[in-house]
Amino acid sequence: MEIVLASNNKHKVVELEYFINKMCAEKGLEAIKVLTLRDIGFNDDIVEDGETFEENAFIKASTVARMGYIGVADDSGLCVDALGGEPGVYSARYSGEPCDDRRNNELLLFKMKDVPAEKRTAKFVSTIAFAFPGEPGKGFVCRGECPGTILFDYRGTGGFGYDPLFLYEPLGKTFAEVNAEEKNAISHRARAMALFAEMFSKEIQKRK
Ligand code: IMP
Repeated sequence: MEIVLASNNKHKVVELEYFINKMCAEKGLEAIKVLTLRDIGFNDDIVEDGETFEENAFIKASTVARMGYIGVADDSGLCVDALGGEPGVYSARYSGEPCDDRRNNELLLFKMKDVPAEKRTAKFVSTIAFAFPGEPGKGFVCRGECPGTILFDYRGTGGFGYDPLFLYEPLGKTFAEVNAEEKNAISHRARAMALFAEMFSKEIQKRK
């Protein structure tokens, strides 16, 4: 079976293939091959104009389903309590386009400069949606979250995006200081992936 991830990010393909096939193996289902938009000859941008992560993930998954493939899509970002949930769905382009992690982090630090330590709570959110051909309007979406705190300055050199400003309290480390194994055990994306793999494999079994 093939599914199409509404992205051209190879890293995301590998991650999705790993989670979904681990679940399929456990349930005795056939292995799934994950294709990208480029693989199916789709080179346009999908306009992500939803107001929530769920809406954006669903817009992308159903666009793929309308082309006759099983579509899977993710949308994720950072929500900071003291900023009313910002940057939220604008996480990638918080400081404008083209997207720039460093500029986004500088803007976040600036907006948070007067927020005291105890009010700097935040969370990373990851949503994953999927849709089947012939029923693109019917969506399945799951969400994973990871709580943390926004620091006053950068810590750590790994990761990407807002990682060096996001402290994960239980480990006392930022996401830029944890290794891949640690991040995979706690991250919003790993949590969403696990839920997705469970939900998706159930749907496949139903449709057999
Ligand atoms: P995407 O939906 O995966 O493309 O993520 C959107 C944006 O959210 C990224 O460009 C990052 O700014 C931010 N983001 C999402 N997940 C993470 C993460 O695990 N670490 C740091 N930033 C993240």
